[in-house]
Amino acid sequence: MAEPKVNELMEKVVSLCKRKGFIFQSSEIYGGINGFWDYGPLGAELKRNVKDFWWRSMTKLRDDVVGLDASIIMHPKIWEASGHTSTFSDPMVDCLLTKKRFRADQIEPQSGTVYHFTGAQAGPTGKESTEAYSVLLPAGKNSESARKIAYRFYQQRGVNAPALLGERTEEVSQSIRYNPENGSLLTEARNFNLMFKSYAGPVESEDNIVYLRPETAQAIFVQFKNVLDVSRQKVPFGICQIGKAFRNEINPRNFTFRSREFEQMELEFFIKPDDVSSKQTADSSISEGQPQPNWGWSEWHKYWVEERVKWYESIGLSRNDLDFYWQKKEELAHYARATVDILYKFPFGTQELEGIAARGDFDLTQHQKFSGKSMEYFDEETKSKFIPHVIEPSAGVDRLVLALLCKAYAEEEVTDEKGNKEIRIVMRFHPRIAPTKVAIFPLLKNKPELVAKALQVRELLRPHMNLVYDESGAIGRRYRRQDEAGTPFCITIDFDTLGNEKPELKDTVTLRERDSMKQERVPISGLLELLIGKIT
Ligand code: ATP
Repeated sequence: MAEPKVNELMEKVVSLCKRKGFIFQSSEIYGGINGFWDYGPLGAELKRNVKDFWWRSMTKLRDDVVGLDASIIMHPKIWEASGHTSTFSDPMVDCLLTKKRFRADQIEPQSGTVYHFTGAQAGPTGKESTEAYSVLLPAGKNSESARKIAYRFYQQRGVNAPALLGERTEEVSQSIRYNPENGSLLTEARNFNLMFKSYAGPVESEDNIVYLRPETAQAIFVQFKNVLDVSRQKVPFGICQIGKAFRNEINPRNFTFRSREFEQMELEFFIKPDDVSSKQTADSSISEGQPQPNWGWSEWHKYWVEERVKWYESIGLSRNDLDFYWQKKEELAHYARATVDILYKFPFGTQELEGIAARGDFDLTQHQKFSGKSMEYFDEETKSKFIPHVIEPSAGVDRLVLALLCKAYAEEEVTDEKGNKEIRIVMRFHPRIAPTKVAIFPLLKNKPELVAKALQVRELLRPHMNLVYDESGAIGRRYRRQDEAGTPFCITIDFDTLGNEKPELKDTVTLRERDSMKQERVPISGLLELLIGKIT
């Protein structure tokens, strides 16, 4: 079957998310709220599996990373030290006609004829406006429509039935000064701080201003010393955190891709400065490819990029689905030595999933300066004192879940038992992150022996994996329901399981694999081991 077209694919994913309960619009019954999303039963499981697997990969499967779960609202000085209060902003512009707000760097460039007006007057003695205004019309559009937009603009400024003044035209190419939706002139770009503000305590004063954290990373830096004291770790080591972050994005868009509330999975991996690590010799007992004590920041940076790509592969994204963007020198933050963005080829374009930055010692140094507390580390091996440097892999949970949904969506033409062709929608999630691991069906719900066996299988598997039990409808329908939910395995308990006619099949079930739709006969006693091997 032909692959669904790009935007068609996105529409299909969005509609499946609602229909199957992966993602709903937040506050939907009140008309929704822009930039906020809720995860339904399947989405909540999917998201949890992604986070749990990241956490397991970072903290349980390694010795050199420990976890943290910090508060969302923290001391406002943290955001001064990190630079967020002064510089965490996007340039915004407003449409002079509709007041709609855009991110200046995301305006689609426009070409055409600009109609400039110097002002307008309501009759020879009426109210006058001397405010200049312009409208851009794409080639081929009637000039009257530019004037109509200008009439509306001046009417809003209190000039009724205006006569337009000083009209002149100009050809422009690739301009970002006009609203792509109606041609109206936009305001000059101004910086808009993306942090959500609130007040801690009952008094709404300047002294009580707090911010919802725009990233999880800063809590890790400010707790660096506490974690170091209790965890018996030595540099190099990392602290990771998963949690909510909030950014008052000017234009939330592309479904959950750019939201105002989202989750991050961040690691701050603390390393020795290059002048310290270079004093150490390679440890010959450490096998090749494994981290070495004498690695400098650039080896660590490359190592983490590779680790993260392998992690994405382990949950079903191939290297081919990803792309990499190495920020150019002039794009880097002043303290950063290198930043690579791992991008995913979304149906709406290739966009960032995760950023991996080598941040030097900027963050700890800033917090040392602003708090007055030492962030220095004493290194036993080299007998030197330093502020550790950091490599930061920072990923967005919601963007990754969206990538996994897009990647999983597939349509296939299949032939049912009666020979009829139909379209099968199947979510091909990696079993590791699939919301439901297995579905259990008694072939018929009105046969107590089948139902009893099916419930027995359910109790056997339930403590170990998320499963569903379904006895309603034809078996083919039940398979389709699970295909759409992305359940990798279905178990059917049929008459052979009872072993009345074929004793050799007693206590065996059919295990159907979602992608190949192949079915095999498996003894109930071997089910748990077999499935655990496939889902972990
Ligand atoms: P962008 O350039 O897309 O705004 P960013 O470079 O500002 O992203 P970071 O500050 O590096 O993002 O945040 C780390 C990760 O957090 C991003 O790679 C992304 O996965 C996620 N993230 C950031 N902003 C949002 C958002 N508004 N909605 C959803 N996820 C986000």
